[in-house]
Amino acid sequence: MNKQSNAPAPNDLNTWDRDHNLHPWTNIRDWRKTDFMRVNTAQGIHIWDSEGKRYIDGPGGMWCVQIGYGRAEMAEAIAAQAMAMPYASPWSFTTEPAALLARKLAEMTPGDLNTVHFTAGGSTAVDTAIRAMQFLNNRLGRPDKKIVLSREKAYHGSTYLAATMTGKERFKTRFDKADNLVRFLPDVNPYHRPKDMGMAAWCDAKIADFEQMIAEIGPEHIGAFIAEPILCSGGVIVPPPGYHQRTHEICRRHDILYISDEVVTGFGRLGHWFASQDVFGITPDIITCAKGLTSGYVPLGACILSDALMEHLAGGQGDDVFYNGYTYCGHPVACAAALKNIEIMEREDILDHVRRVTPHFQSRLRHIGETFEIVGDARGMGLLGCLECRPDLSEETYAKHLQFGVKLDALCEAQGLLLRPFGNMAVFSPPLIITTDEIDEMFDIMEAGLSQLSAEYTG
Ligand code: PLP
Repeated sequence: MNKQSNAPAPNDLNTWDRDHNLHPWTNIRDWRKTDFMRVNTAQGIHIWDSEGKRYIDGPGGMWCVQIGYGRAEMAEAIAAQAMAMPYASPWSFTTEPAALLARKLAEMTPGDLNTVHFTAGGSTAVDTAIRAMQFLNNRLGRPDKKIVLSREKAYHGSTYLAATMTGKERFKTRFDKADNLVRFLPDVNPYHRPKDMGMAAWCDAKIADFEQMIAEIGPEHIGAFIAEPILCSGGVIVPPPGYHQRTHEICRRHDILYISDEVVTGFGRLGHWFASQDVFGITPDIITCAKGLTSGYVPLGACILSDALMEHLAGGQGDDVFYNGYTYCGHPVACAAALKNIEIMEREDILDHVRRVTPHFQSRLRHIGETFEIVGDARGMGLLGCLECRPDLSEETYAKHLQFGVKLDALCEAQGLLLRPFGNMAVFSPPLIITTDEIDEMFDIMEAGLSQLSAEYTG
């Protein structure tokens, strides 16, 4: 077969994409049947498709486009670094952007989290965190203390180890996982608590789950607890107040490392650089981040470790070499982009902006929950939101319930708003620069879509 390609006509691009580009989470049954929206340009909170139709980017890329699209100075910073020094092996060299960014992140993170291991994205940041825990316990002579506690509905990534820590719809996957390395705590979603149970009692119940699992496994076998401050891909699940502080305190008591996976919550989503300390009052041992670190302009992640952990690592015995690293650790172009991203966020005081527009965003979200019968739960925090379909609508089939996200997204898309459907839920996390008027436009479209959907669902 002649594999040479000719210059593309616009329709060819869709065909070639279908035939040759295996997208993430492809349903293999529909392989080569699905056309993805082809997007050409973007500016601010908007993206345009190849037909010239404009959309509000409700998902903010993939929870990541904090400063919005079309920032010329980002492009210039990226180009300047690519011209000056596009790549330097992190095994042999450092560069100005890598050193500056490591220092900057050390300043921004809470407590003594001062050591940064750069990665290629969020999954590799999570891998690094888990491997650091394994390395630590091997060096401290406790090779049996390595089980990781994770949670149902958690998402930590798509590499073997990060996918192993992921508690989402595990039963559906045909990929292998290292199941012996992890145990999953039951759902923490307050929406799923028994009808007559208050929030404080739900928190007590979740802490009881946590303590019971530690007792069952034995703390001497548990190396770490990994937790997203908010379980975002699980459907923006905000654990009950006090949950993080209590689990953190229990981890301290049992010498279990606390890994806070801030791949989504980091870099302003909740109005702070990091949510662990400023929003939830804990200083973890490790923070993982990615996404908003560069606002999605180029890939970069980081695993940030505490001084106490590093001292323990250094003080142990056995093989001294931390054999973890990637060709693109501290990639100079990515680090330059991250520095520019942070500079823009500081200059424009985007964290303060998020804190100012959040009450309006959250009140429009709650209003939906109070207004539409088909919405069982409208939840969120900061500029994160989720609408979950009511499970108990009469006459509803389970299949229809699971179509809620896709159907609502399609209705909103027709009106110029993109959402992210997750089965019976639709989630959104717009660029952090979104204005109050744009928030209104977003929610007006959602409400119109829900009115239409209500007619279909409840007759
Ligand atoms: N951790 C969390 C909390 C995430 O939401 C994600 C991605 O959505 C990841 C890790 C994986 O990051 P990446 O896709 O950059 O590998």
